[in-house]
Amino acid sequence: MISIRIKKGYDLNIEGKPSLDLKELKKPSYVAALPEKIPFIKPRLLKEKGDRVKIGSAIFEDKRNPDIKFVSPGGGEIVQISFGPRRVIQEIVIQLDPIESYKEFDSVSEKGPERLERKELVKIILEGGLWPLIRAFPFRDIASPDEQPPAIFVSLDSGEPFQPAPEVYLKEEKDLFGYGIHVLRRLAQNVHVCASRNNLSVLNGFGEFVTHTYKGGYPAGDPGVLLYHTKKSPSENRSWYISGQDVLVLAQFLKSGVYPVDRTVVVAGTSAKERMHIHTRLGVPLRHLAQNENGNARYVVGGILRGYSASEETYMGFYETSLTLIPEGKEKEPFGFVRPGYDKPSYSRAFLSVFNPSALTMNCGLHGDERACVNCGTCAQVCPVDILPQFTFKSVLADEVEEALEHGLLDCAECGLCSYVCPSKIEICTILRDAKEAYYKEQA
Ligand code: SF4
Ligand code: SF4
Repeated sequence: MISIRIKKGYDLNIEGKPSLDLKELKKPSYVAALPEKIPFIKPRLLKEKGDRVKIGSAIFEDKRNPDIKFVSPGGGEIVQISFGPRRVIQEIVIQLDPIESYKEFDSVSEKGPERLERKELVKIILEGGLWPLIRAFPFRDIASPDEQPPAIFVSLDSGEPFQPAPEVYLKEEKDLFGYGIHVLRRLAQNVHVCASRNNLSVLNGFGEFVTHTYKGGYPAGDPGVLLYHTKKSPSENRSWYISGQDVLVLAQFLKSGVYPVDRTVVVAGTSAKERMHIHTRLGVPLRHLAQNENGNARYVVGGILRGYSASEETYMGFYETSLTLIPEGKEKEPFGFVRPGYDKPSYSRAFLSVFNPSALTMNCGLHGDERACVNCGTCAQVCPVDILPQFTFKSVLADEVEEALEHGLLDCAECGLCSYVCPSKIEICTILRDAKEAYYKEQA
């Protein structure tokens, strides 16, 4: 077992941590697929409003690679397809039948993955709409089915607040997880299963699968960070990764031949009334997961540092398993500039909160406008992949792509820490992520 120590990073101590209890949620009336939230694809609709679909029916595909299909997360009728600017497909909403029908795919349970040709296995996963669960570095786009990667990283926990805990979603799933790892070994020779050294329950229960243990603050568990700290040659830069929960989804699909729609998600944050793990459906409405009780909370989907704010009218996306509710923070703070900030979460040691061990309330307020970079170097102090973000983003803004690449643009793990700690409120992570995407499109 390889042991990795990540020295840089930062753990936010914020209020709203979910309990490890798992609540069963009743079936929603609607679910949706959100093509707009799937990066690097050009979605093409395969169904129309009013069409009837089964769980697993293909509903859209990637125009650039029609083998990459996305299937319906529910059985019923497509009641709405919403488009955004430039006809971007935002939502495909399905009204669920009381008893949903599902499409049956080839199950590999009898043959076993080891008896299948790799090509045949890839074809089954593609047809089942689950191939997009596997993504590739350095862009984090959907892995190319025609490539054989040097390795696949399985990340059990990114460490970002607040994501599903592996001890919850893996509970009593040892056999299924083992089967999933077996499947991944048919796709790549090296499968790296990475777990935190501090998570003893996972290490005790799943130790036989774990190949790498890590120690460090967020985002030590991110597969991109672990790749950066373990790679021995540039050829490893095109490794793939998949989340621990998605290994279970893949395994379940291959064993049963039915597209699995169950997911474990987390609802947490200061403004969430109930903070816990929830067993629910893929594409569940946000309002079904949590109510915005007094209307002054913001819904953040996918994590506080990496996610996006969303309307309560929308749904959980294909990749998202976390919903955080935090106060908008629009209230004025009279004489805020002379307050010592004992209860203000901040990386800066200028606030007295540095002496406050309690979990603090985080809100959406930026507490100031964007200013020019003051070269303080704080972003570089936390960057887990040793980028100097202040130079990289300036190269990007100056259109010096080669220079940004030399500064390690492609190693960026898109963790969001540099934006969080920057005293000048510069959205460094967004600038770098957009630059990576632009470079990807240029290469394509
Ligand atoms: S933290 Fe912000 S202000 Fe400081 S060096 Fe980085 S980008 Fe510049
Ligand atoms: S540059 Fe920023 S977003 Fe990228 S890995 Fe470093 S800290 Fe994270």
